Amino acid sequence: MGTNNAVKSAYPPVSPETHLNIWVCNIGGGILGYAQFPGGSLTTDGVVCSPQYFGNTGYVSAPFNKGRTMTHEVGHYLNLRHIWGDGRCRQDDFVADTPSSDGPNYGCPTYPTVNCKSPDMTMNYMDYVDDACMYMFSDGQRNRMRAIFQPGGARASMLN
Ligand SMILES: [Zn+2]
Repeated sequence: MGTNNAVKSAYPPVSPETHLNIWVCNIGGGILGYAQFPGGSLTTDGVVCSPQYFGNTGYVSAPFNKGRTMTHEVGHYLNLRHIWGDGRCRQDDFVADTPSSDGPNYGCPTYPTVNCKSPDMTMNYMDYVDDACMYMFSDGQRNRMRAIFQPGGARASMLN
């Protein structure tokens, strides 16, 4: 179905002000999932994931068979960027404690994998490594996610 939100037109989100909506459908094009950042249209708010990468049993496909696609996409839904900031070394992810990088990592990198003169946090959920090789958010990412639930935050309505 691609990443053009067609599935959301066919099945509109239910109560997106207070609920995370998740669509599981074949996206195609090698895309595992996609998410909407906070502050976008309520008519398209939520996360989409292909069934091959959703959860950790049944129809899942290694090496993305441990549910981490949704961990990553919900990270975006909660305002996290990729740890390389989707740009070169100086492009930031707006999180102070994730080291600078200039692109995604894949597979299961050995430590240290050095880019931009520092070891990448390849084990971070917001990188592109295999599910088995990602296992953490940083403190700064946690704080950035929590901030959107504070009064005035983009998803504060979810707490009420
Ligand atoms: Zn992503």
